[in-house]
Amino acid sequence: MLADEMKNPSGIIRLLKDLNDKAGGRKPRLTDVIRENFWWDEAFFIKVSAAAKSVHELPWMIEAYEAAAAAARNARHSARATALDVCIAKLYLAAGYKKEKAARVWERIIKLPTNPRAMEADLIKACKGLATLRYSVYCLDNARELEHGTPEEKKWIERLEKVCKAKNKATDDAPQVITSSTSAMQLGLWYRENGYLEEANACFQPFIREALMILSDDDPENDLQGFHDLASALIAAGDDECALAFLNSLRPKPRQEKRSRGGPSDNEEEDGASASSDRPLGEIKDDGEDMKGGETMQDKNANEKFGEAGQAEHGTAVTYSETANNSVSYDELPYSNLMSRLSVRYPRGAYFWLWVCDSHCHREFPIFAEVNVCRMCSSEICDDCLELIRSGDERASKSCNPQHEWLHIDASEQEVAEGQVLLGEELISFEEFKDCLRAKWKV
Ligand SMILES: [Zn+2]
Ligand SMILES: [Zn+2]
Repeated sequence: MLADEMKNPSGIIRLLKDLNDKAGGRKPRLTDVIRENFWWDEAFFIKVSAAAKSVHELPWMIEAYEAAAAAARNARHSARATALDVCIAKLYLAAGYKKEKAARVWERIIKLPTNPRAMEADLIKACKGLATLRYSVYCLDNARELEHGTPEEKKWIERLEKVCKAKNKATDDAPQVITSSTSAMQLGLWYRENGYLEEANACFQPFIREALMILSDDDPENDLQGFHDLASALIAAGDDECALAFLNSLRPKPRQEKRSRGGPSDNEEEDGASASSDRPLGEIKDDGEDMKGGETMQDKNANEKFGEAGQAEHGTAVTYSETANNSVSYDELPYSNLMSRLSVRYPRGAYFWLWVCDSHCHREFPIFAEVNVCRMCSSEICDDCLELIRSGDERASKSCNPQHEWLHIDASEQEVAEGQVLLGEELISFEEFKDCLRAKWKV
Protein backbone atom coordinates (compact mmCIF):
# COMPACT_ATOMS: atom_id res chain seq x y z
CA MET A 1 0.00 0.00 0.00
CA LEU A 2 2.78 2.40 1.01
CA ALA A 3 4.82 1.30 -2.00
CA ASP A 4 1.86 1.96 -4.26
CA GLU A 5 1.43 5.46 -2.85
CA MET A 6 5.14 6.21 -3.38
CA LYS A 7 4.85 5.45 -7.07
CA ASN A 8 2.97 8.58 -7.97
CA PRO A 9 3.53 12.21 -7.01
CA SER A 10 0.05 12.82 -5.64
CA GLY A 11 0.37 9.68 -3.48
CA ILE A 12 3.66 10.97 -2.03
CA ILE A 13 2.19 14.36 -1.20
CA ARG A 14 -0.92 12.74 0.28
CA LEU A 15 1.27 10.59 2.54
CA LEU A 16 3.26 13.62 3.71
CA LYS A 17 0.17 15.72 4.35
CA ASP A 18 -1.20 12.84 6.35
CA LEU A 19 1.78 13.30 8.66
CA ASN A 20 0.96 16.92 9.34
CA ASP A 21 2.11 18.18 12.68
CA LYS A 22 -1.29 17.88 14.29
CA ALA A 23 -1.50 14.16 13.58
CA GLY A 24 -1.58 12.31 16.86
CA GLY A 25 -1.20 8.65 17.72
CA ARG A 26 1.70 6.61 16.45
CA LYS A 27 2.39 8.53 13.27
CA PRO A 28 5.58 10.58 13.17
CA ARG A 29 5.13 14.29 12.64
CA LEU A 30 5.99 15.72 9.23
CA THR A 31 8.46 18.16 10.81
CA ASP A 32 10.34 15.26 12.41
CA VAL A 33 10.38 13.23 9.19
CA ILE A 34 11.88 16.17 7.30
CA ARG A 35 14.41 16.81 10.08
CA GLU A 36 15.56 13.21 9.86
CA ASN A 37 15.95 13.40 6.08
CA PHE A 38 17.95 16.58 5.83
CA TRP A 39 20.40 15.63 3.05
CA TRP A 40 19.50 17.48 -0.09
CA ASP A 41 20.98 14.90 -2.42
CA GLU A 42 19.38 11.78 -1.04
CA ALA A 43 16.31 9.99 -2.27
CA PHE A 44 13.85 11.47 0.20
CA PHE A 45 14.38 15.07 -0.80
CA ILE A 46 14.82 14.27 -4.49
CA LYS A 47 11.57 12.34 -4.55
CA VAL A 48 9.38 14.59 -2.43
CA SER A 49 10.52 17.80 -4.10
CA ALA A 50 9.94 16.32 -7.56
CA ALA A 51 6.52 15.11 -6.46
CA ALA A 52 5.62 18.52 -5.02
CA LYS A 53 6.70 20.21 -8.22
CA SER A 54 4.68 17.93 -10.43
CA VAL A 55 1.47 18.44 -8.44
CA HIS A 56 2.08 22.17 -7.84
CA GLU A 57 2.59 21.82 -4.09
CA LEU A 58 6.00 23.48 -3.79
CA PRO A 59 4.74 26.47 -1.73
CA TRP A 60 3.27 24.03 0.79
CA MET A 61 6.49 22.03 0.83
CA ILE A 62 8.59 25.17 1.35
CA GLU A 63 6.50 25.99 4.43
CA ALA A 64 6.95 22.46 5.73
CA TYR A 65 10.73 22.66 5.29
CA GLU A 66 10.88 26.11 6.89
CA ALA A 67 9.00 24.74 9.91
CA ALA A 68 11.40 21.78 10.09
CA ALA A 69 14.46 24.06 9.88
CA ALA A 70 13.06 26.25 12.65
CA ALA A 71 12.41 23.16 14.78
CA ALA A 72 15.98 21.96 14.18
CA ARG A 73 17.31 25.36 15.27
CA ASN A 74 15.16 25.30 18.40
CA ALA A 75 16.60 21.90 19.21
CA ARG A 76 20.11 23.36 18.69
CA HIS A 77 20.74 21.12 15.72
CA SER A 78 22.24 23.98 13.81
CA ALA A 79 24.07 21.89 11.22
CA ARG A 80 20.95 19.98 10.36
CA ALA A 81 19.03 23.27 10.18
CA THR A 82 21.64 24.54 7.74
CA ALA A 83 21.25 21.44 5.58
CA LEU A 84 17.50 22.06 5.58
CA ASP A 85 18.23 25.64 4.49
CA VAL A 86 20.04 24.16 1.50
CA CYS A 87 16.88 22.17 0.69
CA ILE A 88 14.78 25.31 1.08
CA ALA A 89 16.98 27.28 -1.34
CA LYS A 90 16.65 24.46 -3.84
CA LEU A 91 12.88 24.48 -3.39
CA TYR A 92 12.83 28.26 -3.99
CA LEU A 93 14.56 27.73 -7.31
CA ALA A 94 12.36 24.77 -8.25
CA ALA A 95 9.29 26.87 -7.49
CA GLY A 96 10.56 29.62 -9.79
CA TYR A 97 11.08 32.17 -7.01
CA LYS A 98 13.55 34.95 -7.74
CA LYS A 99 17.14 33.74 -7.78
CA GLU A 100 17.98 36.47 -5.26
CA LYS A 101 15.91 34.67 -2.66
CA ALA A 102 18.07 31.55 -2.92
CA ALA A 103 21.21 33.70 -3.17
CA ARG A 104 20.44 35.24 0.24
CA VAL A 105 20.37 31.72 1.70
CA TRP A 106 23.72 30.87 0.07
CA GLU A 107 25.26 34.08 1.43
CA ARG A 108 24.05 33.29 4.93
CA ILE A 109 25.49 29.78 4.80
CA ILE A 110 28.84 30.98 3.39
CA LYS A 111 29.22 33.33 6.37
CA LEU A 112 28.70 30.57 8.96
CA PRO A 113 31.82 29.89 11.00
CA THR A 114 33.53 26.54 10.52
CA ASN A 115 35.00 24.82 13.50
CA PRO A 116 36.82 21.74 12.21
CA ARG A 117 36.71 20.17 15.66
CA ALA A 118 32.96 20.46 16.05
CA MET A 119 30.93 17.29 15.74
CA GLU A 120 28.88 18.63 12.89
CA ALA A 121 31.85 20.13 11.03
CA ASP A 122 31.54 17.80 8.04
CA LEU A 123 27.90 18.60 7.49
CA ILE A 124 28.50 22.34 7.78
CA LYS A 125 31.43 22.05 5.37
CA ALA A 126 29.26 20.23 2.86
CA CYS A 127 26.61 22.95 3.17
CA LYS A 128 29.19 25.70 2.79
CA GLY A 129 30.76 23.92 -0.19
CA LEU A 130 27.46 23.76 -2.00
CA ALA A 131 26.45 27.30 -1.02
CA THR A 132 29.80 28.61 -2.27
CA LEU A 133 29.43 26.83 -5.57
CA ARG A 134 25.84 27.94 -6.10
CA TYR A 135 26.60 31.50 -5.08
CA SER A 136 29.62 31.73 -7.37
CA VAL A 137 27.61 30.37 -10.30
CA TYR A 138 24.97 33.00 -9.49
CA CYS A 139 27.59 35.80 -9.44
CA LEU A 140 29.16 34.56 -12.68
CA ASP A 141 25.77 34.31 -14.42
CA ASN A 142 24.99 37.88 -13.39
CA ALA A 143 28.40 39.13 -14.54
CA ARG A 144 28.03 37.38 -17.89
CA GLU A 145 24.79 39.21 -18.57
CA LEU A 146 26.45 42.61 -18.21
CA GLU A 147 28.68 44.45 -20.60
CA HIS A 148 32.36 43.84 -19.95
CA GLY A 149 34.12 46.65 -18.15
CA THR A 150 31.04 48.18 -16.55
CA PRO A 151 31.02 48.95 -12.79
CA GLU A 152 27.99 46.66 -12.43
CA GLU A 153 29.91 43.74 -13.87
CA LYS A 154 32.87 44.54 -11.62
CA LYS A 155 30.66 44.33 -8.54
CA TRP A 156 29.69 40.74 -9.33
CA ILE A 157 33.28 39.76 -10.01
CA GLU A 158 34.41 41.33 -6.75
CA ARG A 159 31.80 39.26 -4.92
CA LEU A 160 33.07 36.17 -6.67
CA GLU A 161 36.67 37.01 -5.76
CA LYS A 162 35.65 37.54 -2.15
CA VAL A 163 34.05 34.11 -1.98
CA CYS A 164 37.21 32.52 -3.41
CA LYS A 165 39.34 34.19 -0.79
CA ALA A 166 37.02 33.33 2.07
CA LYS A 167 37.05 29.77 0.94
CA ASN A 168 40.81 29.52 0.74
CA LYS A 169 41.08 30.87 4.25
CA ALA A 170 38.70 28.23 5.52
CA THR A 171 40.89 25.62 3.87
CA ASP A 172 43.84 26.66 6.02
CA ASP A 173 41.85 25.73 9.10
CA ALA A 174 40.73 22.42 7.68
CA PRO A 175 43.41 21.18 5.32
CA GLN A 176 41.79 17.78 4.81
CA VAL A 177 38.95 19.30 2.84
CA ILE A 178 39.41 19.88 -0.87
CA THR A 179 37.96 23.28 -1.41
CA SER A 180 40.16 25.39 -3.60
CA SER A 181 38.01 24.60 -6.53
CA THR A 182 34.35 25.34 -6.58
CA SER A 183 34.40 29.12 -6.58
CA ALA A 184 37.87 29.48 -8.10
CA MET A 185 36.65 27.53 -11.12
CA GLN A 186 33.90 30.09 -11.76
CA LEU A 187 36.34 32.96 -11.41
CA GLY A 188 38.78 31.21 -13.75
CA LEU A 189 36.04 30.78 -16.33
CA TRP A 190 35.24 34.47 -16.22
CA TYR A 191 38.93 35.42 -16.56
CA ARG A 192 39.33 33.07 -19.50
CA GLU A 193 36.17 34.23 -21.28
CA ASN A 194 37.44 37.80 -20.99
CA GLY A 195 40.99 37.13 -22.15
CA TYR A 196 42.85 37.23 -18.80
CA LEU A 197 44.62 33.96 -19.43
CA GLU A 198 47.30 34.26 -16.78
CA GLU A 199 44.73 34.98 -14.08
CA ALA A 200 42.55 32.19 -15.40
CA ASN A 201 45.36 29.66 -15.25
CA ALA A 202 46.17 30.74 -11.71
CA CYS A 203 42.59 29.72 -10.82
CA PHE A 204 42.78 26.36 -12.59
CA GLN A 205 46.27 25.32 -11.47
CA PRO A 206 45.39 24.52 -7.82
CA PHE A 207 42.44 22.55 -9.12
CA ILE A 208 44.62 20.44 -11.41
CA ARG A 209 47.34 20.08 -8.76
CA GLU A 210 44.91 18.83 -6.13
CA ALA A 211 43.20 16.47 -8.56
CA LEU A 212 46.58 14.94 -9.45
CA MET A 213 47.38 14.55 -5.75
CA ILE A 214 44.05 12.84 -5.14
CA LEU A 215 44.63 10.46 -8.02
CA SER A 216 48.09 9.65 -6.66
CA ASP A 217 47.36 9.11 -2.96
CA ASP A 218 46.56 5.85 -1.22
CA ASP A 219 42.94 6.66 -0.61
CA PRO A 220 40.68 5.11 -3.26
CA GLU A 221 37.62 6.76 -1.69
CA ASN A 222 38.51 10.16 -3.13
CA ASP A 223 39.43 9.12 -6.66
CA LEU A 224 35.99 9.85 -8.05
CA GLN A 225 36.36 13.43 -6.91
CA GLY A 226 39.86 13.60 -8.38
CA PHE A 227 38.66 12.30 -11.69
CA HIS A 228 35.82 14.81 -11.95
CA ASP A 229 38.00 17.68 -10.71
CA LEU A 230 40.68 16.94 -13.25
CA ALA A 231 38.32 16.55 -16.20
CA SER A 232 36.35 19.61 -15.26
CA ALA A 233 39.42 21.81 -14.72
CA LEU A 234 41.02 20.73 -17.99
CA ILE A 235 37.86 21.46 -19.95
CA ALA A 236 37.34 24.80 -18.22
CA ALA A 237 40.95 25.66 -18.96
CA GLY A 238 40.49 24.77 -22.62
CA ASP A 239 42.85 21.77 -22.59
CA ASP A 240 40.54 19.60 -24.68
CA GLU A 241 43.31 17.28 -25.83
CA CYS A 242 44.30 16.14 -22.33
CA ALA A 243 40.69 16.11 -21.11
CA LEU A 244 39.61 13.83 -23.95
CA ALA A 245 42.63 11.56 -23.57
CA PHE A 246 41.97 11.21 -19.87
CA LEU A 247 38.21 10.63 -20.14
CA ASN A 248 38.64 8.10 -22.94
CA SER A 249 41.07 6.15 -20.76
CA LEU A 250 38.45 5.41 -18.10
CA ARG A 251 37.20 1.86 -18.32
CA PRO A 252 33.82 0.49 -17.26
CA LYS A 253 33.88 -1.50 -14.05
CA PRO A 254 31.73 -4.61 -13.65
CA ARG A 255 30.01 -4.82 -10.29
CA GLN A 256 31.01 -8.37 -9.47
CA GLU A 257 34.72 -7.61 -9.61
CA LYS A 258 36.52 -7.45 -6.33
CA ARG A 259 37.86 -4.10 -5.21
CA SER A 260 41.47 -3.72 -6.22
CA ARG A 261 43.94 -0.91 -6.13
CA GLY A 262 45.61 0.32 -9.27
CA GLY A 263 45.53 3.20 -11.70
CA PRO A 264 42.61 5.55 -11.78
CA SER A 265 40.95 3.65 -14.53
CA ASP A 266 40.28 0.64 -12.43
CA ASN A 267 38.70 2.13 -9.42
CA GLU A 268 36.82 5.34 -9.94
CA GLU A 269 33.57 3.76 -10.82
CA GLU A 270 33.85 1.35 -7.99
CA ASP A 271 34.65 4.03 -5.47
CA GLY A 272 31.75 6.15 -6.36
CA ALA A 273 29.29 3.37 -6.22
CA SER A 274 30.63 1.56 -3.23
CA ALA A 275 30.69 4.63 -1.04
CA SER A 276 26.95 4.79 -1.04
CA SER A 277 26.00 1.23 -1.80
CA ASP A 278 26.64 0.09 1.72
CA ARG A 279 23.68 1.88 3.13
CA PRO A 280 20.04 1.48 2.32
CA LEU A 281 18.25 4.15 0.42
CA GLY A 282 17.71 7.25 2.52
CA GLU A 283 19.07 5.66 5.66
CA ILE A 284 19.38 8.14 8.48
CA LYS A 285 20.73 7.62 11.93
CA ASP A 286 18.91 9.28 14.74
CA ASP A 287 21.65 10.00 17.19
CA GLY A 288 23.26 13.33 16.66
CA GLU A 289 24.25 16.01 14.26
CA ASP A 290 27.25 14.52 12.58
CA MET A 291 25.55 11.59 10.85
CA LYS A 292 27.55 10.01 8.12
CA GLY A 293 29.18 13.14 6.83
CA GLY A 294 32.69 11.90 7.45
CA GLU A 295 32.29 8.81 5.34
CA THR A 296 30.85 10.34 2.26
CA MET A 297 31.96 13.94 2.25
CA GLN A 298 34.39 13.62 -0.59
CA ASP A 299 31.79 11.94 -2.69
CA LYS A 300 29.42 14.67 -1.69
CA ASN A 301 31.90 17.35 -2.63
CA ALA A 302 32.49 15.72 -5.96
CA ASN A 303 28.83 15.36 -6.43
CA GLU A 304 27.99 18.92 -5.54
CA LYS A 305 30.32 20.20 -8.15
CA PHE A 306 29.17 17.94 -10.81
CA GLY A 307 25.54 17.28 -10.18
CA GLU A 308 23.98 16.75 -6.86
CA ALA A 309 20.97 14.69 -7.75
CA GLY A 310 20.87 10.96 -7.95
CA GLN A 311 23.55 10.33 -5.36
CA ALA A 312 21.22 8.33 -3.18
CA GLU A 313 20.47 5.99 -6.03
CA HIS A 314 24.07 5.20 -6.80
CA GLY A 315 24.76 1.61 -6.17
CA THR A 316 21.36 0.85 -4.75
CA ALA A 317 18.81 -1.40 -6.30
CA VAL A 318 16.54 1.55 -6.95
CA THR A 319 16.40 2.78 -10.49
CA TYR A 320 14.57 5.71 -11.85
CA SER A 321 12.06 3.65 -13.70
CA GLU A 322 11.00 2.24 -10.35
CA THR A 323 10.80 5.52 -8.51
CA ALA A 324 8.44 8.42 -8.61
CA ASN A 325 11.46 10.69 -8.76
CA ASN A 326 10.98 13.35 -11.35
CA SER A 327 8.81 10.97 -13.28
CA VAL A 328 11.55 10.14 -15.76
CA SER A 329 12.19 6.54 -16.54
CA TYR A 330 14.76 4.88 -18.72
CA ASP A 331 11.96 4.20 -21.12
CA GLU A 332 10.46 7.66 -21.25
CA LEU A 333 13.12 9.49 -23.20
CA PRO A 334 13.76 8.10 -26.64
CA TYR A 335 17.07 6.31 -26.60
CA SER A 336 19.81 8.17 -28.35
CA ASN A 337 22.51 6.21 -30.16
CA LEU A 338 24.47 6.30 -26.97
CA MET A 339 21.72 4.78 -24.89
CA SER A 340 20.96 2.08 -27.40
CA ARG A 341 24.58 1.04 -27.61
CA LEU A 342 25.16 1.26 -23.88
CA SER A 343 22.11 -0.75 -23.02
CA VAL A 344 23.40 -3.62 -25.13
CA ARG A 345 27.05 -3.44 -24.19
CA TYR A 346 26.72 -2.54 -20.54
CA PRO A 347 23.44 -3.87 -19.15
CA ARG A 348 21.97 -1.63 -16.52
CA GLY A 349 22.93 -2.69 -13.01
CA ALA A 350 25.89 -4.80 -14.14
CA TYR A 351 28.42 -1.95 -13.99
CA PHE A 352 29.30 0.76 -11.53
CA TRP A 353 28.30 4.21 -12.61
CA LEU A 354 30.99 6.59 -13.74
CA TRP A 355 28.92 9.67 -14.22
CA VAL A 356 25.37 10.83 -13.67
CA CYS A 357 23.55 13.16 -16.02
CA ASP A 358 23.22 16.55 -14.31
CA SER A 359 20.13 17.44 -16.27
CA HIS A 360 16.57 16.22 -16.29
CA CYS A 361 17.09 12.44 -16.40
CA HIS A 362 19.77 11.92 -13.71
CA ARG A 363 20.61 8.62 -15.36
CA GLU A 364 23.82 6.84 -14.46
CA PHE A 365 26.37 5.82 -17.09
CA PRO A 366 29.10 3.19 -16.90
CA ILE A 367 31.47 4.77 -19.43
CA PHE A 368 32.42 8.37 -19.94
CA ALA A 369 31.47 8.64 -23.60
CA GLU A 370 28.93 10.57 -25.63
CA VAL A 371 28.77 13.02 -22.74
CA ASN A 372 28.44 16.76 -23.20
CA VAL A 373 30.52 18.64 -20.65
CA CYS A 374 29.51 22.27 -20.41
CA ARG A 375 32.42 24.64 -20.89
CA MET A 376 30.61 27.36 -18.98
CA CYS A 377 29.08 25.61 -15.96
CA SER A 378 30.81 22.18 -15.89
CA SER A 379 27.51 20.29 -16.07
CA GLU A 380 27.74 16.80 -17.52
CA ILE A 381 24.75 16.17 -19.75
CA CYS A 382 23.61 13.18 -21.75
CA ASP A 383 22.76 13.54 -25.43
CA ASP A 384 19.04 13.16 -24.76
CA CYS A 385 18.94 15.92 -22.17
CA LEU A 386 21.11 18.21 -24.29
CA GLU A 387 18.39 18.02 -26.93
CA LEU A 388 15.87 19.09 -24.30
CA ILE A 389 18.08 21.99 -23.20
CA ARG A 390 18.70 23.15 -26.75
CA SER A 391 15.02 23.06 -27.59
CA GLY A 392 14.15 25.06 -24.47
CA ASP A 393 12.17 22.16 -22.99
CA GLU A 394 10.84 23.16 -19.57
CA ARG A 395 11.87 19.82 -18.06
CA ALA A 396 15.55 20.68 -18.47
CA SER A 397 15.27 24.39 -17.77
CA LYS A 398 17.02 24.28 -14.40
CA SER A 399 20.18 22.69 -15.72
CA CYS A 400 22.78 24.42 -17.83
CA ASN A 401 21.58 26.93 -20.41
CA PRO A 402 20.86 26.82 -24.16
CA GLN A 403 23.41 29.65 -24.62
CA HIS A 404 26.25 27.61 -23.11
CA GLU A 405 28.85 25.64 -25.05
CA TRP A 406 29.72 21.98 -24.62
CA LEU A 407 32.58 19.65 -25.29
CA HIS A 408 31.22 16.40 -26.67
CA ILE A 409 33.16 13.37 -25.49
CA ASP A 410 32.98 10.82 -28.28
CA ALA A 411 33.20 7.14 -27.54
CA SER A 412 36.84 6.20 -28.01
CA GLU A 413 37.70 4.75 -31.44
CA GLN A 414 40.57 2.84 -29.97
CA GLU A 415 40.21 1.02 -26.70
CA VAL A 416 43.20 1.44 -24.44
CA ALA A 417 44.23 -0.98 -21.72
CA GLU A 418 43.65 -0.15 -18.07
CA GLY A 419 46.19 2.29 -16.70
CA GLN A 420 47.06 3.64 -20.15
CA VAL A 421 46.21 6.89 -21.87
CA LEU A 422 46.15 7.62 -25.59
CA LEU A 423 47.44 11.17 -25.85
CA GLY A 424 47.23 12.21 -29.47
CA GLU A 425 48.85 9.30 -31.32
CA GLU A 426 50.95 8.21 -28.40
CA LEU A 427 50.04 5.49 -25.93
CA ILE A 428 51.50 6.29 -22.52
CA SER A 429 51.05 5.09 -18.95
CA PHE A 430 48.82 7.05 -16.57
CA GLU A 431 51.92 7.98 -14.56
CA GLU A 432 53.50 9.48 -17.69
CA PHE A 433 50.25 11.27 -18.44
CA LYS A 434 50.26 12.84 -14.99
CA ASP A 435 53.87 13.98 -15.55
CA CYS A 436 52.80 15.56 -18.85
CA LEU A 437 50.06 17.47 -17.05
CA ARG A 438 52.41 18.59 -14.30
CA ALA A 439 54.84 19.96 -16.89
CA LYS A 440 52.18 21.52 -19.12
CA TRP A 441 50.30 23.20 -16.27
CA LYS A 442 53.33 23.89 -14.07
CA VAL A 443 51.76 22.20 -11.07
ZN1 LIG B 1 20.17 13.23 -19.17
ZN1 LIG C 1 26.16 24.96 -18.87
